[in-house]
Amino acid sequence: MDFELTDEQRLFRDTLRAFVDREIRPVVQEWEAADRYPTEIVETMKGLGLFGLTVPEEYGGLGADMVSFALVFEEISKGWMGIAGILGSHSLSCWMIARHGTAEQKACFLPDLAAGRRRTGIGLTEPGAGTDLQGIAATARRDGDHYVIDGRKTWITNARHASPLPVLVKTDPSASPAHRGMSVLLVEDGFEVLRDLPKLGYKGTESCEIVFDGACVPAANLLGGVEGRGMQQVLSGLETGRINVAARSLGIAQAAYDEALRYAARREAFGRPIQDFQAIQLKIADMAIKVQAARLLVYWAASRADAGDRVDMQAGMAKTFASEAAIECALTSMQVHGGYGYSKEFTVERLYRDAPLMSIGEGTNDIMRTVIAKALTSGKETVG
Ligand SMILES: Cc1cc2nc3c(=O)[nH]c(=O)nc-3n(C[C@H](O)[C@H](O)[C@H](O)COP(=O)(O)OP(=O)(O)OC[C@H]3O[C@@H](n4cnc5c(N)ncnc54)[C@H](O)[C@@H]3O)c2cc1C
Repeated sequence: MDFELTDEQRLFRDTLRAFVDREIRPVVQEWEAADRYPTEIVETMKGLGLFGLTVPEEYGGLGADMVSFALVFEEISKGWMGIAGILGSHSLSCWMIARHGTAEQKACFLPDLAAGRRRTGIGLTEPGAGTDLQGIAATARRDGDHYVIDGRKTWITNARHASPLPVLVKTDPSASPAHRGMSVLLVEDGFEVLRDLPKLGYKGTESCEIVFDGACVPAANLLGGVEGRGMQQVLSGLETGRINVAARSLGIAQAAYDEALRYAARREAFGRPIQDFQAIQLKIADMAIKVQAARLLVYWAASRADAGDRVDMQAGMAKTFASEAAIECALTSMQVHGGYGYSKEFTVERLYRDAPLMSIGEGTNDIMRTVIAKALTSGKETVG
């Protein structure tokens, strides 16, 4: 079994590392603390083509393979996970439009999205429904050549920058099962941002509650042009979204390990570097094991997707393991730092605040475990 990156992937990773070292590391401490939107970094990411990661080359995108896609989220999250968040739901929705959009929708949106001239996100979660997407209340009523949307969405990343924002709605609220009456509309304008949600970490990028109050959307913006396919479209997008969150988790876990290793070599107690104490060595070894196991799962899930397989189980395993590794490594690294780990002047404090989101976003880890178990008990997947 070969888990080596290709020469092209290694070169791509080196370019990403240089970008993170040059543009993100020098500002992360100050901008994250100020919850400042990283406009300048976004501009550089446009230049690097990163907004076109999941856009096919024929529409001006990179058409990146999934391993390269994972490398982007891993490397950026080593510097600042919030920046990876800006690319995350953008990439998911570009992928959905490329896969499920009509020829007109692809031609209209993808070139601008690839260049970052337009940006996007994903509007699924509502104040009353997150995991249970069939329980959403947002509706879209057809009125001539338009749909009229009413409802609220919450926690929407990129809400202030997204046009179009793909939004999951009920086009037939009476359908049973509910998913048969659900569709995705590509909303270019007409929603109002009510507020930014205050949050523990994931600073820099916005997370908003938005409202649709009779918003008019052209019928031509129904994703794929056929009603009732919304849940299926969203679930296929979430498959890649979970690889992105798994890779972000890996980046956080690696950064936590790197910080601990560096600190343990530098900090002295009882006349010796603390890395000489067995209690510290055990922590370093535990972190390294988790980071490396997470990496193998993430690259494995990504490479299975590149082979053309459905990867619900693989992406679910990678996301669950890597996010829990990120949470555990951030805490362990903080302990290695002693009191300084609790200080906002040290990187590990941010990693500790950013890590828990990885167990929530793109489906909670409880849901990941149910997805994994369903694949195994139905006989669709096996392990071993
Ligand atoms: C910072 C941030 C950014 C986000 N960005 C976006 C975004 O851009 N777009 C978007 O649409 N959403 C976004 N979300 C929302 C996120 O996807 C949801 O929070 C997540 O899917 C969980 O939904 P919920 O919060 O409604 O929790 P709930 O669904 O209410 O779940 C609460 C608890 O119950 C458990 N649970 C629920 N159902 C089951 C079940 N059947 N079996 C076992 N356990 C269950 C869950 O695992 C969880 O522990 C974001 C969230 C955060 C915090």
